[in-house]
Amino acid sequence: MIEVDLHLHTTCSDGRLSPTALVDLCASRGLKVIALTDHDSTEGIPEAQAAAARHPGLTLIPGIELSTDIPGSEIHLLGLFVDFREPVFLATLAELRDGREGRAKQMVEKLNQLGVAISWERVKELADGAIGRPHIAQAMVEAGYVKYPRDAFDKYIGRGGPAYVERAKLTPKDAVAILAANGALPVMAHPTYSAAKSPRGEVEEIRHILNDLKGAGLVGVEVYYGDYTPSQVKRLAGLAKELGLIPCGGSDYHASGNPNEPEPGKVGPPMSTYQRLLAAREDPARSRR
Ligand code: AMP
Ligand code: ZN
Ligand code: FE
Ligand code: FE
Repeated sequence: MIEVDLHLHTTCSDGRLSPTALVDLCASRGLKVIALTDHDSTEGIPEAQAAAARHPGLTLIPGIELSTDIPGSEIHLLGLFVDFREPVFLATLAELRDGREGRAKQMVEKLNQLGVAISWERVKELADGAIGRPHIAQAMVEAGYVKYPRDAFDKYIGRGGPAYVERAKLTPKDAVAILAANGALPVMAHPTYSAAKSPRGEVEEIRHILNDLKGAGLVGVEVYYGDYTPSQVKRLAGLAKELGLIPCGGSDYHASGNPNEPEPGKVGPPMSTYQRLLAAREDPARSRR
């Protein structure tokens, strides 16, 4: 029985359920601890908290997901227990969202040049909050260019695809520093290949990167994630143990419309992970700048 899901998206970024609908779904699946981790936005948290308050026994952790680049691939960082009222942090998120908008617009222009006639207006309409490639993919599905959103990634907007545009550069260390300064607990998201999101590109030298980021304040790494196979989970659990990182995870549910998307309740870390996160929050040795 899965009780914890620490990776979930809503309409405040590229998920398709409202914060209320997502929280209600998680409660109905028997989850006890969930974290909202929208991309570059904390705007769904107040609504999610109000929804969670209607479900006794459900705890909501305010979170965030930041995207960073390394040569040839990308690394996403979750921040758990984020202080979502801190002005400096909110200003950083607003900047990141501006960058998303410019980038998405460029991708739509590239698609138009390639003969994929989706409109920027429609993509904007589909995005209620932080805009992302899934909104472009959704517009392409609607217009009949691809069957599923993931096909848009495979053919056009995946890293290295003909309509792909790089984001403004943020390094994994920058993101860990931003999160640590906020007081959030930084956790590396989906550190390795996910079949549902292929081809995302395998991150080389995860051990080295994790170790490096630990020095910068990383406290956890996703192990129980999405569609990871038992052998992937085993390998990552070993790595987390070896490096002294808390084994985290969740469904990364978006209600994306892709086939076989892992739903809330399908995968997640044990309750002991939540206890360890709570202990880490109290740890005075943790860097809080
Ligand atoms: P962006 O934040 O605009 O770079 O878009 C990244 C988001 O797109 C991820 O968080 C996933 O939700 C989704 N995504 C990434 N790769 C794929 C893929 N191959 N198939 C489907 N969705 C993907
Ligand atoms: Zn996403
Ligand atoms: Fe991610
Ligand atoms: Fe995510």
